[in-house]
Amino acid sequence: MSSAANRAAALFKSEFGGEGRGFFAPGRVNLIGEHIDYNGGRVMPCSLSIGTYAAARRADGRIRLVSADLPGQNAEVALDELSSLPLTPGAFRRFGWAAYPLGVAAQLIIRGYPVGGFDMAVCGDLPRGSGLSSSASLEVLTCAVLDGLYGPWLDGRQAAEVSLAAEHECAGVNCGIMDQFVCAAGVKGHALLLDTHTLDFEYEPFDLDGDVLLIMNTKKPRKLTDSKYNERRGECDEALAAINSVLETPRDALCAVTLGELDACRAVLSPVLFRRARHAVTENERTLAAAQALRRGDNAELGRLLTASHDSLRYDYEVTGGHLDAIVDAALMQEGVLGARMTGAGFGGCAIALCRADRAGDVSRETARVYLEKTGIKCEIIPVQTGSSPFGKA
Ligand code: ADP
Ligand code: MG
Repeated sequence: MSSAANRAAALFKSEFGGEGRGFFAPGRVNLIGEHIDYNGGRVMPCSLSIGTYAAARRADGRIRLVSADLPGQNAEVALDELSSLPLTPGAFRRFGWAAYPLGVAAQLIIRGYPVGGFDMAVCGDLPRGSGLSSSASLEVLTCAVLDGLYGPWLDGRQAAEVSLAAEHECAGVNCGIMDQFVCAAGVKGHALLLDTHTLDFEYEPFDLDGDVLLIMNTKKPRKLTDSKYNERRGECDEALAAINSVLETPRDALCAVTLGELDACRAVLSPVLFRRARHAVTENERTLAAAQALRRGDNAELGRLLTASHDSLRYDYEVTGGHLDAIVDAALMQEGVLGARMTGAGFGGCAIALCRADRAGDVSRETARVYLEKTGIKCEIIPVQTGSSPFGKA
């Protein structure tokens, strides 16, 4: 058992007495396909071997929640009271972190599932607030707990939908459904090639074989993310409108434009808008090429595409920032690294590197040393494999 699973079990015993049943939900990382979900492109995330563990047991008429990661911040609520709460962030704010699991329980109740009371102790081995979706992991975990104790009711899509509703309405965080979907439907040894609008997806075999993924947390807060995100979306809309003024058949999204067509539109685009559009077009091509590489088991090519993605996000899309560039550059200097890129919205948070497993220790140490020298910040580097969701079926 992982140490986080053990800590959840031990906390359960000390808080509630006796034994709880064990559950796990993974975190996720986006391998490639960055900043193109809103341009009609596809993303290719995978679920991770790190995530959130629970020990849980049925209880009569009330819910008690504790987290080994946030000691002392326990929550308790009667089932009747939870059922009568309005599904708004204001009503759930007083529960702190427990707004996520309580939000999931409330969302299941309002959908008519016969949810009963439960005791749950959780513990994660996933960095929180760093873009690896610890919130989605906790939500999907709660779906798995309730589905396991009182169901079965849910498949991956339903668990994702309930989790997203909890995140939006109860935690008050507006995000797309990718995070919840990957945490709920991910399968070990696979990545998901996913259209975030239709939720059409394919499992691609992602056999890390003799490689590992290094999750490299810059520990730099993501301050600019929201404003720059909105700015980029606006630029993409502007670029598409300009391109459509030239093309014979208008496109509904930038990713539907070819590189040749984009070149032909250069005259109507400012240099900045041209580069933004070029990122969208080439990133979508790289994502599809990465899916092909996975099908061939070609991790060297995958690594090359990861690095090309980072360069595009750095020079064309300009969302990386000094810290992500520093950690990616430091990793790419190391022997045994096949490729590296930022992941998530940018300006901080995490990067990933694909690395030979037998080099992971040395690469992590050296990358951290170079990054510290450059930025003065101690980063965190975690080797991971892919992992399975309780609702994932390949
Ligand atoms: P991310 O999803 O990128 O990790 P968020 O800010 O969306 O970041 O979610 C992090 C929040 O989720 C934490 O602040 C906490 O409220 C909750 N959370 C996640 N994991 C745990 C855990 N193991 N124990 C308690 N709360 C957790
Ligand atoms: Mg989150």
